[in-house]
Amino acid sequence: MKKLHILANDGIAPSAKEKLEQAGHRVFTEKVPQEKLADFINDNQIDVLIVRSATKVRKDLLDRAEPLKLIIRAGVGLDNIDTEYAKQKGIRVENTPAASSHSVAELVMAHLLGGVRFLHQSNREMPLRGDTDFKVLKKAYSKGTEVKGKTLGIIGFGRIGRELAKMAIGLEMNVLAYDPYIDEAELTLHFFDGQTTTFKIKTVSKEEVLKNSDFISLHVPAQKEPVIGQKEIEMMKPGAAIINAARGGVVDEAALLKALDEGKLSFAALDVFADEPKPPIRLLMHPKLSLSPHTGASTLEAQERIGEEIVRKINSFASGS
Ligand code: NAD
Repeated sequence: MKKLHILANDGIAPSAKEKLEQAGHRVFTEKVPQEKLADFINDNQIDVLIVRSATKVRKDLLDRAEPLKLIIRAGVGLDNIDTEYAKQKGIRVENTPAASSHSVAELVMAHLLGGVRFLHQSNREMPLRGDTDFKVLKKAYSKGTEVKGKTLGIIGFGRIGRELAKMAIGLEMNVLAYDPYIDEAELTLHFFDGQTTTFKIKTVSKEEVLKNSDFISLHVPAQKEPVIGQKEIEMMKPGAAIINAARGGVVDEAALLKALDEGKLSFAALDVFADEPKPPIRLLMHPKLSLSPHTGASTLEAQERIGEEIVRKINSFASGS
């Protein structure tokens, strides 16, 4: 097996670094700024570049980074990498698509369960007014709802969409899913005592999802046009909610703000933003938005699984397969 020089520019699970080093590879974990990346790769003869979403691997970098042979996206979306151009140059591009699905779905569920009980708002207000206006706040947040019996619309029924559906079923919700490339999916729920139950879910039209869902969560790849804009929001139930933990721009943020301001939507949750890492202040300050800084995949378990997949991919590459 070849011994490789590896740069994990957006971090790597310590256990994965250790395993790569045990296999004889050299692993660099310093965060090299974007503009210095090509020089670093050349100076240190980096064979493998591991990135998350922060580091951009565009044509200009690929043209200059001579020794690079393999790029691994520790995660799903490849939109920060010019994959076609890399392949043309003979550089292999891999990702770790399945490792974080469950974590992303759990974050979506956290936003949903928080949203229906105003946790995003009361967590902002309690430190400021909890000791002086307790009763006012108690009244303001007294009209929460349960998710049980409500309908969750899932747009994009791939890995994360299905994980989310399983959780929603566990919470006794109805699930509607839209995916132009999937007609039916089989979901198996595994319980703590070894029992399993399998559900078949047939996808429906986007219109049906929009019209009949109390909450809509998006799980599609990055798109050129928003999947949800003003037209789609108008089709939704009054008081519905939207959660976007897919990619910034999949939901039109201006249309979303308008719908929140006008009361068409009761709340929304965003883990991803069109302008990362500097989302506009209007989004950040909006009281009806539950926010997280693109942390869907950021759990210890997901990062461990991603690390294990990276080790497998690098060792198999180093062995010539
Ligand atoms: P996946 O490829 O398994 O599923 C995506 C599904 O979307 C596919 O089934 C595809 O057919 C469907 N689809 C494509 N275009 C569509 C459209 N216009 N309308 C409806 N469905 C459409 O991907 P995944 O692993 O489930 O990831 C989904 C998204 O989550 C990706 O954008 C990924 O980048 C993002 N993601 C976010 C985080 C985070 O930290 N928030 C972490 C991992 C992945």
